[in-house]
Amino acid sequence: MTHLFNKKNSQYAKDSEFLFSSLKNKKIPTKYLYDEKGSKLFEEICTTREYYITRTEKKILNKHSVEILRLSNVKEFFELGSGSSKKTKVLIKEALKNEKKIKYTSFDISQKALNMSMKELKNISNKLEINFIKGDFLKDLHTLNKEYQERMYLFLGSTIGNFNNDLAIKFLSNISKVMKKDDFLLLGVDKIKDRKIIKSAYNDKSGITEKFNKNILNVINKKDKLNFNKNNFSHEAIFNEDKKQIEMYLKSKVFQKIQFPNKKQIHLRKGDNILTEISRKFSDRILRNLFVKSSLELKKSFTDDKKFFSIYLLKSK
Ligand code: SAH
Repeated sequence: MTHLFNKKNSQYAKDSEFLFSSLKNKKIPTKYLYDEKGSKLFEEICTTREYYITRTEKKILNKHSVEILRLSNVKEFFELGSGSSKKTKVLIKEALKNEKKIKYTSFDISQKALNMSMKELKNISNKLEINFIKGDFLKDLHTLNKEYQERMYLFLGSTIGNFNNDLAIKFLSNISKVMKKDDFLLLGVDKIKDRKIIKSAYNDKSGITEKFNKNILNVINKKDKLNFNKNNFSHEAIFNEDKKQIEMYLKSKVFQKIQFPNKKQIHLRKGDNILTEISRKFSDRILRNLFVKSSLELKKSFTDDKKFFSIYLLKSK
């Protein structure tokens, strides 16, 4: 069994742990953004004018799928954090033109994402075999099936940006360890660009990202029997210039007490922030370093006209 991460290494030490232990760095694990409602809201975010990420990555896939497939020659796709698989469909459809049989596995923590993915792909072709695995890509990759042909792992949407550098190296290194000689990793990464463009992607005028962010409180209220009131928080997404990352917070609008079932309380002052997500933006230099440290070798990269986003085709070293 290959454990992608043992518990000790995991960013999320315990499932129920949202880290209120330190007064300064309060955070809720990002994975809790994606329940039924959160996954639906994320799909909506992808269609907003401000969220350039999805449409840019899709454009790159539309343009370069043929070459990506020519270089990799894979029969099987295994997508981590697939969401609705809408973009991956481009690649799958292209692959189906040349292969007798294609296998696709969607691996996601959210049942809603898996359902959306199924809906998206089920009627494409009877040459396509689809599998769904519900799991946590930071903990559960031991469920990987080893009996496979040439496989392409996909990690799209710049989800790698949700990990700090150490976690990104651990995650990619472990994928690299799992990869066989003829396997590939296709990694979608959001690049550093005009800060205004980046910031507005997480502050859409229609307020969908705000709803998405606040929904995390409903998720942990339900999960841990807490009494967060989302009306007492505002959505904040700032660009941290030192770390080159978007930091998404819920900012407390008032002094408030959060009641735990074990009678413990935590107090939030007006202005206190709870971190719900980071979204790192990458330079070529940082990526080169990341690939070297993760034992990955770059085969080819693909980008759009404005160089907003890049897709990397990688092999294990
Ligand atoms: N790849 C898609 C979705 C990106 S959003 C795209 O490019 O549009 C991130 C996805 O990862 C969501 O579907 C979410 O449910 C999933 N996810 C988040 N944390 C996860 C975890 N720890 N394990 C598995 N999936 C996770």
